[in-house]
Amino acid sequence: MAAHQEKKTPGERNHKSTQNGSQTSQVQWGRAWEVDWFSLASIIFLLVFAPLIVYYFIMSCDQYQCSLIDPLVDLLTGKKHLSDIWNKTPALTYRAAGIYTLWVAFQVVLYVFVPDFCHKFLPGYVGGVQEGAITPAGVVNKYEINGLQAWIITHVLWFANAYYFHFFSPTIIFDNWIPLLWCANILGYIVSTFAMIKGYFFPTNATDCKFTGNFFYDYMMGIEFNPRIGKWFDFKLFFNGRPGIVAWTLINLSYAAKQQELYGQVTNSMFLVNVLQGIYVLDFFWNEAWYLKTIDICHDHFGWYLGWGDCVWLPYLYTLQGLYLVYHPVELGTANAIGICMLGLIGYYIFRVTNHQKDLFRRTNGNCKIWGKKPEYIECSYMSVDGTKHYSKLMTSGFWGWARHFNYTGDLMGSLAYCLTCGFDHILPYFYIVYMTILLTHRCIRDEHRCFSKYGKDWKRYTAAVPYRLIPGIF
Ligand code: NDP
Repeated sequence: MAAHQEKKTPGERNHKSTQNGSQTSQVQWGRAWEVDWFSLASIIFLLVFAPLIVYYFIMSCDQYQCSLIDPLVDLLTGKKHLSDIWNKTPALTYRAAGIYTLWVAFQVVLYVFVPDFCHKFLPGYVGGVQEGAITPAGVVNKYEINGLQAWIITHVLWFANAYYFHFFSPTIIFDNWIPLLWCANILGYIVSTFAMIKGYFFPTNATDCKFTGNFFYDYMMGIEFNPRIGKWFDFKLFFNGRPGIVAWTLINLSYAAKQQELYGQVTNSMFLVNVLQGIYVLDFFWNEAWYLKTIDICHDHFGWYLGWGDCVWLPYLYTLQGLYLVYHPVELGTANAIGICMLGLIGYYIFRVTNHQKDLFRRTNGNCKIWGKKPEYIECSYMSVDGTKHYSKLMTSGFWGWARHFNYTGDLMGSLAYCLTCGFDHILPYFYIVYMTILLTHRCIRDEHRCFSKYGKDWKRYTAAVPYRLIPGIF
């Protein structure tokens, strides 16, 4: 990582500087300080419509067999009114509130009170106390990495219940899916609002807070960089990983159990969704320490975007394929199943190897081998908010020489594979690939804007050396 550092005097710190030959403020990298009209309009649109989008998708499965068109047709032709749809929507129940409270409380216990033991016996796994990346204010946070352990314990208990104890039905998640949606929303809004209040009144690290002065922007994109309660309860790591990603595989298992209950069998498409998404989830937890160096943790502040997004958007919309397959049990032909499986596995391979190459390169400061050779790179420098000059490297070989975000390309191939398991009768399961394409393309642009602010002309040298973003020769 930063191999060398040089301190600047306070006088040098307090004015804008010419960094790497481009006019940038020393504190530009990280999220924006000023909000343009387009960003504000997009944010207000998302605040209003994102919860409605989630409701619409889940309701259309519940009431319209996953057709996204039929509810609209019913409403536009006057066959149904909004109140008819709303009245048929299951309400919040005490049972769902109890399940959800227990679920979140259990994940908090696993996160805060059970130190990692997996790293003691799993070779190659990095767990226990790990350091995150340096923040714009120059802080290096410590994290207890125990997500894999939480995932294993949760799933062992799930299977023990399903096959042995029978305390609850494995279809419990599917059976309470809409009442649980209200609980997830309540938590999402509480967490985001609390994070905003905390940012104003008792931030964990005041120098890493950003206030744009625009209420909506600050609520959505967050004020605090790494809000914490106590020494270890880190909001970003907990909310993204635990109620969100641990739940992902359980939700899929619940869908598979529902198929079994309804049709007496689990289709090969449901099996593929469970396996391919299971690999992605396990990969996330196996590499949780690496996740500390990704954009979510390194650059995004904690606001509604992450808080509500992790509680509601992720578990509800990332699992649409499994939900769809409960209503439409697709049995794929052997050739199609093999083709989709290969696409998913190759996508995953590209995603993993690309991420691993960068991680290895950064961890060893370039002293490693990528595809059997010493990596090629561009030396670059940047400044943190305290005026310290840091040095870094941008790799230009391996998959990072093919495109600037080839990890996203692999991710998109995997995402397409999940959707293809559902056949072509409805568009609902394809939401995921459309969303991921928008998310990751936007991320490319956002990340590149940030990197340019951070590295200035060194970033330009890098983009000249690796001209394509996602698909070599095309984009
Ligand atoms: P990256 O892992 O690509 O990280 C981008 C950062 O890496 C840049 O900001 C820069 O940071 C550094 N970097 C960029 N180019 C190079 C280079 N050539 N050599 C070395 N370092 C470089 O992005 P993300 O954090 O967004 O994504 C991580 C993974 O998570 C991806 O595989 C993505 O597909 C996945 N993802 C999945 C999502 C989902 O919802 N399923 C959502 C978002 C991401 P620095 O400032 O350190 O130089």
